[in-house]
Amino acid sequence: MAPMLRLYNTLTREKAPFAPIDPTNVRVYACGPTVYDAAHIGNARPIIVFDLLFRLLRHLYGPAHVTYARNVTDVDDKINARAALRGITIRELTDETLKAFHADVRDLGVLMPDDVNVPGARARFIEPRATDHIVEMVTLIEGLVAAGHAYVAQDHVLFDVPSMPDYGGLSRRPLDEMEAGARVEVAPYKRSPLDFVLWKPSKPGEPSWPSPADIAAPGRPGWHIECSAMSWKHLGQTFDIHAGGIDLIFPHHENEVAQSRCCFGTAVMANVWLHNGFLQVEGEKMSKSLGNFITIREVLADWPGEVVRLAMLKTHYRQPIDWTLRGLEEASRTLDRWYGAVGDASPAQHMPPAVLEPLLDDLNTAAALAELHRLDDPATLKAGASLLGLLGQTQSGRAQASVQAAGIDVGKVEALIEERRAARAAKDWAASDRVRDALLAMGVAVKDNKDGTTTWSVVT
Ligand code: AMP
Ligand code: ZN
Repeated sequence: MAPMLRLYNTLTREKAPFAPIDPTNVRVYACGPTVYDAAHIGNARPIIVFDLLFRLLRHLYGPAHVTYARNVTDVDDKINARAALRGITIRELTDETLKAFHADVRDLGVLMPDDVNVPGARARFIEPRATDHIVEMVTLIEGLVAAGHAYVAQDHVLFDVPSMPDYGGLSRRPLDEMEAGARVEVAPYKRSPLDFVLWKPSKPGEPSWPSPADIAAPGRPGWHIECSAMSWKHLGQTFDIHAGGIDLIFPHHENEVAQSRCCFGTAVMANVWLHNGFLQVEGEKMSKSLGNFITIREVLADWPGEVVRLAMLKTHYRQPIDWTLRGLEEASRTLDRWYGAVGDASPAQHMPPAVLEPLLDDLNTAAALAELHRLDDPATLKAGASLLGLLGQTQSGRAQASVQAAGIDVGKVEALIEERRAARAAKDWAASDRVRDALLAMGVAVKDNKDGTTTWSVVT
């Protein structure tokens, strides 16, 4: 029997014990990136938080008993526009962006499918791409039309919101508020302003696929139907946990629920809905549209991924985080101290209960990290930290990573140090100082040791 995990469920607005439908295959879906541009550090938050959830579930139910699907949205208006702007094909753009996303999140210590998947195992980490699931989307859409929950109009298929009496149960927005929001762009083919697009015609040059029945022209899917199709294909009609950022509750998740439940006639799509809070800059959500963003790659040029991960996990996932330099500096100092304390110890066999228990309370990472600070046995500290995806590096791996992260050319540093040694030998102190300053400008500090050697380190 796994220890009891409690999760705050957006659907019920309550924290409750988590009981999987099938403990031998716990099924989780998280909405992943739309791959048109480099991900920003706000986008990294759900990836890190739900990676932690995945690690915790694997610990509780066994690694062979958790299926995690984190999708990739590779069909979208923003993708079409960006590919046209850059003069490359859509597939070139989405492949390139996905590759960069993988490199970004791997550096943040996020588990990847290759790290966890075992050939032939039922439970897996899957990264489904929307364009590989068009047939499933068309099947769902045709099912919704047949069941009287969707209609065809001007080569579009629309979800008929008034046909679902309990539409809105996840976001709990008043109907008039939703209608007012939807009126901003009322299309003539909509019967009700709340109706949303399941399928639309493709303009010339846009990607297109054979449309659902009764539409001759080829077309493309709406955004919400993608996640209903991919979660159904990989996790089934009803599954355990659906996760994403808080901005996705309405309309995205509300509409996913409407599609899946009305197509399958089920009472719920997922039993538990988890939503992470925003990463903010000076009190405002970090976003592409506000222009107040910094990409994951830019942050990783200055900070090791593990520092970023720790800075992120210090705040409970449902709270907003203000992204500050001070937070990163603090996380960096904490990691230095912990790495010093664990040395090359192997992790203890048993997970320290003091670290596990707060995580079982709706992923209370802030409290779990406070407990890590209290541990003094290196093996226990290492075991506890591993559950949070921290302290996984060796000493030399860490040193190398900091050099790489800072983009420092090691050959050039060594050459300058040799130049400085020669200047000092010739007692040319001015030249020696100039070289030291040049190194500092590259982010490298030199230290002359008592034994006559000179060592260097990356300035943090
Ligand atoms: P997008 O690419 O905007 O669709 O976002 C991808 C994921 O990142 C979604 O789960 C969003 O909810 C999440 N997200 C976007 N911006 C932020 C932010 N500033 N803080 C936390 N999560 C975010
Ligand atoms: Zn989604």
